[in-house]
Amino acid sequence: MDFDIITIFPEFFNGPLSHGMVFQAQKRGLIDIRIHDLRDFTTDRHKTVDDRPFGGGAGMVLKPEPLFRAIRKIQAERTLSSRKVILLTPQGKRFEQPQATQFSTLHQAILICGRYEGVDERVTQCLVDEELSIGDYVLSGGELAACVFVDAVTRLLPGVLNNSSSVINESFAVIENALNLADGCILDYPHYTRPEDFEGERVPDVLLCGDHKRVERWRRKKALEKTLKNRPDLLQYATLSEDDKQLLG
Ligand code: SAH
Repeated sequence: MDFDIITIFPEFFNGPLSHGMVFQAQKRGLIDIRIHDLRDFTTDRHKTVDDRPFGGGAGMVLKPEPLFRAIRKIQAERTLSSRKVILLTPQGKRFEQPQATQFSTLHQAILICGRYEGVDERVTQCLVDEELSIGDYVLSGGELAACVFVDAVTRLLPGVLNNSSSVINESFAVIENALNLADGCILDYPHYTRPEDFEGERVPDVLLCGDHKRVERWRRKKALEKTLKNRPDLLQYATLSEDDKQLLG
């Protein structure tokens, strides 16, 4: 999958995308990430990317011309059957695990990082397929949100994680074709590693017993309890089996 990121801070991405799984996926050719400096698409001497808002008010707005030029150039480079132009914005639809799964089927995602008060609305109207928000808070720029998108989507691509079952069991693992987290998902179970006894805190006996059925039931119980405690909203619509209800007590 190709990620094209349009930003006024290209160096921002040197760190976040050069580690761990996202870095390995690039090295192995499973994903390609291209960073586009919005200033390269300006035509004036000062490389101006922003301007004052019509109608007055605080802050600056990213101008339409450089963004239109950037997106058109990226789109013209190749013809791809499935690609989307995505604007990161707090006004967007929430980007959650089901959306990450849907976007992982794309061949190309063109990500626009806003700054200041955001981007000129004509960019959204004419070029953007999806407006996405990573959560109900306001960041100072779309770069962090773009990194969140790239990370969450990349780890779902075939061949990226060695053990694909880790995706199936983890937090927010949703039932197939779910469009919302509320369609039913629970959080991950607790994990332990060596030592067995750390300053008197022991690993639960059940994990050492070697009985896979018992381990599985215990994990399900713990996952349900954690979900009930921290994210009861997720359980509201989940269909729990009789066994699950029993485990929750
Ligand atoms: N005036 C805007 C906020 C602009 S914040 C408003 O009130 O809605 C500046 C930029 O940061 C945005 O253009 C967007 O690209 C990015 N950003 C801020 N919060 C975000 C969020 N929750 N999700 C995704 N992008 C976000």
